[in-house]
Amino acid sequence: MTETTSAPAPAVPQQRQIVTAVPGPKSLALHERRTAVVSAGVSSALPVYIERAHGAVLVDVDGNRFVDFGGGIGVTTVGHTEPRVVAAASAQLADVTHTLFTVTPYEEYVQVAELLARHTPGDWAKKSVLVNSGAEAVENGVKIARKHTGRRAVAVLDHAYHGRTNLTMAMNYKAHPYATGFGPFAGDVYHAPNSYPYRDGLSGDEAAARTIGYLEKVVGAADLACLVVEPIQGEGGFMVPADGFLPALQRWCTENGVVMIADEIQSGMARSGSYFASEQFGWEPDLVLSAKGIAGGLPLAAVTGRAEIMDASHAGGLGGTFGGNPVSCAAAVAVFAAIEEDELLAEARRIEASLTAGLERLAEKHDVIGDVRGKGAMIAIELVRPGTRETSKTPYPEAVGELVAHAAQHGVLLLSAGTYGNVLRFLPGFAVTDELIDDALSVLDDGLSALAR
Ligand code: PMP
Repeated sequence: MTETTSAPAPAVPQQRQIVTAVPGPKSLALHERRTAVVSAGVSSALPVYIERAHGAVLVDVDGNRFVDFGGGIGVTTVGHTEPRVVAAASAQLADVTHTLFTVTPYEEYVQVAELLARHTPGDWAKKSVLVNSGAEAVENGVKIARKHTGRRAVAVLDHAYHGRTNLTMAMNYKAHPYATGFGPFAGDVYHAPNSYPYRDGLSGDEAAARTIGYLEKVVGAADLACLVVEPIQGEGGFMVPADGFLPALQRWCTENGVVMIADEIQSGMARSGSYFASEQFGWEPDLVLSAKGIAGGLPLAAVTGRAEIMDASHAGGLGGTFGGNPVSCAAAVAVFAAIEEDELLAEARRIEASLTAGLERLAEKHDVIGDVRGKGAMIAIELVRPGTRETSKTPYPEAVGELVAHAAQHGVLLLSAGTYGNVLRFLPGFAVTDELIDDALSVLDDGLSALAR
């Protein structure tokens, strides 16, 4: 008999280390191959090709190690290759890889729906449908709300991001790069003002009155099926709404028979320091959308909410071949277990305290940092041109570009965001230690000093 045991994967030291130019020669060679066969429409923020990842660190094919503050855009919340997630997914892969829940069901799908019913806000009967991606969850949330209400219109907020499918392209605020040239788009989508305290200076009640005024005037509640809102806007730049804004919108929706949907695709699954960020604003949405962090890196997304709304669809109206795949579901069950066992909500709050304190120290030193904001492991800085912090708060996107490049050269992976491209965001997994945060902030400090020169 041949030995089939494979060598254990090499350990990944939890430290940054750059040993070649970034990108290194092997990444450059792979990039050349990729350019020949991968659509130019798919870009990469940092074209270093990753070979291994564990905890908070990515290792590229040239042996460079990056401390990861992107987490695949907020996906590897429990850490890269989290052992319990890997074990659960591997075991499931060997047991049943696929049957299709709409043909022959399996327990793991039901377990995920039970966990979502337990952990999403609101003390009422809830049901879920599982799908593959965030955008697909948004699409399904809208379908369900339309079916439940019998109404046509969909409202979103300025600065929103909801995906790259046809309907969600129409729901995004920014045309470029998401929608440019890809029309025609879905109709009946309305963009209402949001709450952006740093720039609008409005209280939650004032901002809600403005949003409601727009919806009543431009759409009319009688035609509005749903209002879809990210409790903390992600791609838009981590806007934390003013207190009271979200509950006021929910009250108006409830009074007017409008389904209010929380897009918690980026902010959910423990990222913000509670299971779902809505909780922190006193908001109990009718429907909640999850994706990204829910399965530790495997594709899975969900629409969860009030049973009477979720049951509006006729049988066969919801589903899809890979939605709620058993391997993704097994991984998700392990993610929920890891959140409980490792008290990861507290870890998110630790990360918020360290990052916020460190970034506020940097803001005292560098006047291009206009705002430090966010919750849990979802923190950002908004950069403004020198000398404009107290006046016009003029966006400074070039600084974000330079800082992201500087950080990458020094082994720290940071992401940009923001309607004006002037937001630098931190979306680490919970494996990031305070030491790694301090280390990354010292790299950022040097980058900010280099900007000033
Ligand atoms: N909604 C929000 C708030 C998101 O952040 C994203 C992804 N960045 C999406 C929807 C779309 O998710 P996906 O890329 O999985 O389709």
